[in-house]
Amino acid sequence: MTLIEELRQVIRELVEEDLIEEAFQKQTLMELIENFNEVFPSSSYGDLRVTHKKVYGEDTTELKIVIQIKSSSSNGAYSTVIVLRRNDLEEEWNVNMPCEVKCSCPAFKYNVAYGNLKSKNFYGRPDRWARKRPEKKNVKGVPTMCKHLMRAAQEAVQQGIIQQ
Ligand SMILES: [Zn+2]
Repeated sequence: MTLIEELRQVIRELVEEDLIEEAFQKQTLMELIENFNEVFPSSSYGDLRVTHKKVYGEDTTELKIVIQIKSSSSNGAYSTVIVLRRNDLEEEWNVNMPCEVKCSCPAFKYNVAYGNLKSKNFYGRPDRWARKRPEKKNVKGVPTMCKHLMRAAQEAVQQGIIQQ
């Protein structure tokens, strides 16, 4: 193969990858949850403990749920944010609404943020690390959750803040 041919092939692969990423539309909370089960099939979150919880904007068009989850490996806790949006104030908050998420843990930073930024599922102003493609897990950048966000979503549903 000549150098030009090699370059063409590299470029083609890069373009294809970009197309895959651009195909991602803003996901609902349910879609992010389903993606978690595919991207991190061996990760479990049921035992993680909720240490703090605050809910804002229940009567508005933007629901913000801030939940602290105790780390499974250290004494610290991670802070999760789940934001849901609705157009109609009469509509009950539910898992099929468009969603933005963020967590302060390393897994979110290195494996989740990149894909969520691409699909507009990243909550708040993007940090510089959010633009870095994952190198080990979730290398395609599928928009999803970390285990703390999964536990937070579970808590929100169990408490009736979000309907299933
Ligand atoms: Zn996390």
